[in-house]
Amino acid sequence: MTQTVPEPSAQDVRRINHWLNGQHVAGTSGRAGNVFNPATGEVQARVDFAAPEEVDLAVRIAAEAQRTWRATALSKRSDILFRFRELIVQHRDDLARLLTLEHGKVHADALGEIARGLENVEFACGIPHLLKGGYSEQAASGIDVYSVQQPLGVVGCITPFNFPAMVPMWMFANAIACGNAVVLKPSEKDPSASLLMAELLQRAGLPDGVFNVVQGDRVAVDALIDHPEVAALSFVGSTPIARYVYERGTAHGKRVQALGGAKNHMVVLPDADIGLAADAAVSAAYGSAGERCMAISVVVAVGASADSLVAAIAERLPRLRVGPGTDPESEMGPLITAEHRDRVAAHIAAAQQQGASVVVDGRHNLPQEQGFFLGATLLDHVTPDMDCYREEIFGPVLCVVRAATYDEALALVNGNLYGNGTAIFTRDGGAARRFQFDVTVGMVGINVPIPVPVAYYSFGGWKASLFGDTHMYGPDGIRFFTRTKVVTSKWPDPATSRVDLGFPQMR
Ligand code: NAD
Repeated sequence: MTQTVPEPSAQDVRRINHWLNGQHVAGTSGRAGNVFNPATGEVQARVDFAAPEEVDLAVRIAAEAQRTWRATALSKRSDILFRFRELIVQHRDDLARLLTLEHGKVHADALGEIARGLENVEFACGIPHLLKGGYSEQAASGIDVYSVQQPLGVVGCITPFNFPAMVPMWMFANAIACGNAVVLKPSEKDPSASLLMAELLQRAGLPDGVFNVVQGDRVAVDALIDHPEVAALSFVGSTPIARYVYERGTAHGKRVQALGGAKNHMVVLPDADIGLAADAAVSAAYGSAGERCMAISVVVAVGASADSLVAAIAERLPRLRVGPGTDPESEMGPLITAEHRDRVAAHIAAAQQQGASVVVDGRHNLPQEQGFFLGATLLDHVTPDMDCYREEIFGPVLCVVRAATYDEALALVNGNLYGNGTAIFTRDGGAARRFQFDVTVGMVGINVPIPVPVAYYSFGGWKASLFGDTHMYGPDGIRFFTRTKVVTSKWPDPATSRVDLGFPQMR
């Protein structure tokens, strides 16, 4: 199915550059990558790939800017973030159009992504409150003890292709608010959103150099990981790369949070409303063509209602409108690249060979010849030994595994390598509470299929879905981007001063 794409010459297409010290800067490495329009299959731009020297320049710019930025008043930082929020609201259609053009997601979905990213900016606007430390007056006689949260310095943010606006906002809103400077390395597949956000941050009043973008691939990532002046790395992407970034970053003594892949199970108990569960499963499995880390990729149908649930899901699929994200009628766009579309299609073929039933096959009746489209696919009678169950497919493919009992369903979820999100559909409050208590997954939905926490909680999976100690954004985001200093203070009081060689006791 792969189409051969001719390498365009430099003058044919738009060039996507870096953003350093408040301006667009052309790459100097001589390396670049194609940026496709996934709806047509055409190369629409070339993105510069940074060499280690360019990453070094970005880090030095950031380090210089951070020295002043960390001393900027909290009220001023908050003011800039409020203005950035307003600019994103004003330009959300422009940003959404960029997402559709490079990622392929439909416009309404792109607007949803921006709204969920913006929540994090709104959270960070409260930075004066979020950075309040503790204060203990008279911890000992004449002695006060207090704590302050200070920024780390320069932080590297490395983001995946599937949320080119939201995931960077998860990171940079809090990182900047806490007084750090940021070097963002966005996905090379859809890099333009990062540059529009950089321009809007500048218009909001953020000093140049506090937010920088280096475009690139693994060379740029390695240069960020290895750079001695990068204090921390915040990463979101696939599990093998998350593990790699975590291990290499922590080996350098850096603070690292690395969020990885997922295989999110939706358990449907026999008492659930079948129509409601089917609507939720279809929305959560096929939204954004399944390219969401919180997409439902496995439905665990418990007990006798499995046949009716599979029938209800299958009945809904032919009605989904697959097409270019720019068409307001489309509900599901293309996949990100031809290679990825072919990989997902190969999973469907392998699942069939390994004994799964292909109830609805998305490889047929595609909306158009060009572009990286694949239709919604439903696989039934999937078992845990099949590749389609074991691997993250990251496409519009929903697997149904049948379980005889609740305990069997729970064991399946808990036995999975990943632990990002999960959901239970039931009318039984006791079963839902038990599930919430027993399940080894970081984010749980009760009759909610995609339980992405609001920005004032934190986002993070367990097991192979997250490497590190802190979750992303919310209170954990503030903890990640700051370090605590505790001050013990005594003001000289000549009236009580004396020499005392004893070990100081706080009594
Ligand atoms: P990816 O791991 O291929 O890429 C993520 C980032 O790492 C990109 O910036 C990329 O340039 C860089 N990278 C890729 N290969 C590298 C290498 N060998 N060395 C160093 N850096 C490298 O992920 P992706 O395909 O862009 O995104 C999809 C994946 O991200 C899925 O697995 C999805 O589940 C996951 N994801 C997870 C979350 C979460 O919150 N847990 C959120 C979104 C996406």
